[in-house]
Amino acid sequence: MLDYHLHLWPHDQRDTPLDLEQVAAYCERAAAAGVVEVALTEHLFRFVQAKGLLGPFWEADPAAHLHGSMAAYWQHHATADLDRYVDAVLEAKRAGLPVVLGLEVDWYAGRMGAVGDLLAGYPFDVLLGSVHWLGAWRFDDLDDPVSMAEWPAREVDAVWTAYVDALEELAASGACDVLAHPDLVKVAGHRPGRPQEWWDRIAEAVARQRLAAEVSSAGWRKPVGEQYPAEGLLVRLAAHGVPLTTASDAHRQEEVADRADELRALLASIGVDRLQGFRRRQGHSVPVARAPAGVAAGPAPGAPSGNGSDPGRGQEPS
Ligand SMILES: [Zn+2]
Ligand SMILES: [Zn+2]
Repeated sequence: MLDYHLHLWPHDQRDTPLDLEQVAAYCERAAAAGVVEVALTEHLFRFVQAKGLLGPFWEADPAAHLHGSMAAYWQHHATADLDRYVDAVLEAKRAGLPVVLGLEVDWYAGRMGAVGDLLAGYPFDVLLGSVHWLGAWRFDDLDDPVSMAEWPAREVDAVWTAYVDALEELAASGACDVLAHPDLVKVAGHRPGRPQEWWDRIAEAVARQRLAAEVSSAGWRKPVGEQYPAEGLLVRLAAHGVPLTTASDAHRQEEVADRADELRALLASIGVDRLQGFRRRQGHSVPVARAPAGVAAGPAPGAPSGNGSDPGRGQEPS
């Protein structure tokens, strides 16, 4: 079992220095749930390097009433230093923690070459690909009234089509190894009556590009109230032979390995018993099953036990 989608900072918190104790606490909580390896996958847009490269991409969207919201979002988030993040994760690896170096990468129309050039300068183990916004619209930002007011103003089918268009382009860009939360567009609970045609397109895009897909417990914490992907999409991915990862998409320590047992049961129900881990963006096979007692990777000797504080929680974007 893996937890291949973890964040260090809640969205309502500015970045804070990453230390070994926080990573060790994540690993300890993961190990207790039978997770043998975690990937730290902070959002690319939390780093000043992304701000210089990509901002203000939202101004290309004719929906000008959304520009201010996205500009403020980037102003708040893009403050950390990517070099320091990478150094801190590599330090955790050297200390023997069962962690790999990852990043969650968004889709930026026409700019993925520049994103790829930036990321090629770092020794990433795994890159997640995500579609969180369409143009200037953060369709998954449940706490933002400007973003949520868009849902009733748009046709659900058209939104799903735009989402899958973006996702196909992201998959074809070569910028990622794993498609994160493949049907995130359902997050606020808006789904087409017959989603099968969109599920088919998503599964085919992932298979065509030989990517892995993520099975995430985060959707259970959202209004949609089900895992990503929906069972109908998960079955399609499995039928295409798409390798899978498992993930919590935690933004705080107490969400690490969230509902790992339910993810295991879901995978068992469709006959999946292997996952895909990554080293330097190359896949390898990992069992779903809990390792026998005493075998699961744990925190480094002397690592602190995790009892982090619980800041007030909103609905984190993914
Ligand atoms: Zn995400
Ligand atoms: Zn995430």
